[in-house]
Amino acid sequence: MENAPNKSLLEHNKGLLQSIDLYEYILETSVYPREPAPLKELRMATANHPWFFMSTAPDAAQLMGMLLKIVNAKKTIEIGVYTGYSLLLTALSIPDDGKVLAIDINRETYEIGLPIIRKAGVEHKIDFIESQAIPVLDKLLKNLSTKYPPYKALFPFCITILELQRVKLIFFFVFLFHQKENEGSFDFAFVDANKDDYMNYHERILKLVKVGGLIIYDNTLWGGTVARPEEAVSEDRRDSRRSIIEFNKSISTDHRLEISLAPWGDGMTICRRIC
Ligand code: SAM
Ligand code: CA
Repeated sequence: MENAPNKSLLEHNKGLLQSIDLYEYILETSVYPREPAPLKELRMATANHPWFFMSTAPDAAQLMGMLLKIVNAKKTIEIGVYTGYSLLLTALSIPDDGKVLAIDINRETYEIGLPIIRKAGVEHKIDFIESQAIPVLDKLLKNLSTKYPPYKALFPFCITILELQRVKLIFFFVFLFHQKENEGSFDFAFVDANKDDYMNYHERILKLVKVGGLIIYDNTLWGGTVARPEEAVSEDRRDSRRSIIEFNKSISTDHRLEISLAPWGDGMTICRRIC
């Protein structure tokens, strides 16, 4: 089978489904036939990478692509890129003048997918930032912005042509206006990085996404371990399991959101900001 991923990937991505056969059935009947060619190429390019299992499951990605279109997402943010499967999906799903701000501590893995992203003609929609996510989110919220705003270059010129009082006034209004530039401006966020930081991402991302916008948190079933006693879980998965359990509990009572914990892939919690 041309599409066939290896068995361990199927076992990983089948999530809570009864069997690999059933998961393969879903992939073969409704996912692979509709998967855009560049996404398929990126999936294949990732298949032999040692961390292949980190890639977003294609069936979960298919749902995400539909949600991006339902909310007409134009300005989006992604935390956790790896080789770029969900990033490319996002870039393909938003309009030509849309933007994805993509953050990952590892540029090397992003570069595995980059030639495919280029070939798909969507690189211009992506701003990739190699960094820990939290400092970037904090910068966005303080509106230090991740890029130097071009109008700042006009400031010295303004100073030479306007007397001091007027400059002060302009600075004051620019400051007021600029403060709000990023808050509530994103239509969509996909969070798929360090599971122990989900709570920390949440408070920041919630401010950045507009009312009515969507936030998707990936891996919120953590391989089904959230419903198992800690002793039954391998030691290397316990810390993240605890963080995910705490995160799931916390957002279940977060009245700023509507939520649905969808059992696609490894579980994805779809949140809609309502206030
Ligand atoms: N969404 C990706 C896809 O579809 O292929 C998979 C992302 S993978 C599960 C998690 C990524 O998060 C890794 O590439 C890792 O380098 C990145 N990461 C881990 N901790 C991070 C942090 N604190 N800040 C930013 N990125 C981080
Ligand atoms: Ca994931």
